[in-house]
Amino acid sequence: MELPFAESYKIKMVETIKKSTREEREQWIKDAKYNLFNLKSEQVFIDLLTDSGTGAMSDKQWSAMMLGDESYAGASSYYKLKDTVKDLLGFEYFLPTHQGRAAENVLFSALIKEGDIIPGNSHFDTTKGHIEFRKAKAIDCTIDEAFDTEVDHPFKGNINIEKLENTIKEHTPEKIPFLVVTVTCNSSGGQPVSMQNLKDVRAIADKYGITVIFDSARFAENAYFIKIREKGYENKTIKEIVKEMFTYADGMTMSSKKDAIVNMGGFIGLKSEEIFKKATVFNIIFEGYITYGGMSGRDMNALAQGLDEGTEFDYLNTRIKQVAYLGEKLTEFGVPVQKPFGGHAIFVDAKKFLPNLPKEEFLAQTLAVELYLEAGIRGVEIGALLADRDPETRENRYPALELLRLAIPRRVYTNNHMDVIAVALKNVFDRRSDITKGLKIINEAPIMRHFTVELDKA
Ligand SMILES: *Cc1c(COP(=O)(O)O)cnc(C)c1O
Repeated sequence: MELPFAESYKIKMVETIKKSTREEREQWIKDAKYNLFNLKSEQVFIDLLTDSGTGAMSDKQWSAMMLGDESYAGASSYYKLKDTVKDLLGFEYFLPTHQGRAAENVLFSALIKEGDIIPGNSHFDTTKGHIEFRKAKAIDCTIDEAFDTEVDHPFKGNINIEKLENTIKEHTPEKIPFLVVTVTCNSSGGQPVSMQNLKDVRAIADKYGITVIFDSARFAENAYFIKIREKGYENKTIKEIVKEMFTYADGMTMSSKKDAIVNMGGFIGLKSEEIFKKATVFNIIFEGYITYGGMSGRDMNALAQGLDEGTEFDYLNTRIKQVAYLGEKLTEFGVPVQKPFGGHAIFVDAKKFLPNLPKEEFLAQTLAVELYLEAGIRGVEIGALLADRDPETRENRYPALELLRLAIPRRVYTNNHMDVIAVALKNVFDRRSDITKGLKIINEAPIMRHFTVELDKA
């Protein structure tokens, strides 16, 4: 008999989580104005709000923390991290930042001016925010297959090369300081970009003399999918694949809270000394001196160790198999989910789940609240609340997809938790015809409303 799959680690420290009664949850979610961001974490049994900064560090990471060098300038922790970035990712120049959006803030301050165009694949919301804040424009060149949850394409994060080239021709290369490739593509569901696509993007960028930046939060999960799905890479190690991926980039921004398995941190990697020098000035203003930039020495040590562990096949196999395990269970129960399953999360199609609710009643948020009421599980809405209002007309924007995202923290939950999540959603699915009312907005902020919005039953 073939041995079943098991996690590539064992547990050394545990954190207690508490179940609650449905009655308690009804009161708590009402007090939270039906916004799951307002819940206290102890009111949540299984927290799938995000995989960002919620991972469990290893014994080696914790021990690396004890060796942190907190010197203001020239700390050994800085050099350790700088060497890891060079060896693993191939970037000669490196700046630490306190998280991913800080890396964007610093690098974009050096590169973007008003009126610029930044093509890419479904830019992450903070990336887009930092582009638009500088009165520049993000243009989405993702392949069309990404926007259909049923199409089974192995690399839904890919950039449509023709769309990219047309965008460059239309706006002229002078208006394009860089293009951004998000690996994996978060906004389209944690979907990977193929090595071939990275090569093709590089060729177009070279043709027009454009800088290529990778938004790299989940680069290791991307490398895993290349190994599993792309011909010619099945026998390469994750570290070899990662190294090749970054040969096609001039620079990168990183949210270390994702694939580097730390709770806080980020960085910029660059090949050009000229861009590095420009960015350094902004790093010192916004983040901190060159050799710590918003991070303590111990955190840089844990990050260096996390980058090494996060690019090991056995770890990635455990992680991505767990996400797929949940996806398969849900599929078995008939719950409509996005396919293929992404690297860090399962996306439930709320429009297919609750076809009878009008879009004005926030389907995905209604489903998120129902799942919380069912079992104390916290997911997050990726739908009309997040899409916000049109800045000009102030009308609600209703996106093509209403999704409930179940993001899986790294090395935190067991497959027993996945079973609970799957059954809880199945129970909601079985009683879906009883869900006849959605939610309405009582109060909202002028931008980024989903974090603080107050809702009530419609
Ligand atoms: C999380 C994330 C960011 C922003 O990073 P923070 O650490 O949250 O500031 C940028 N891009 C992508 C693709 C991300 O997933």
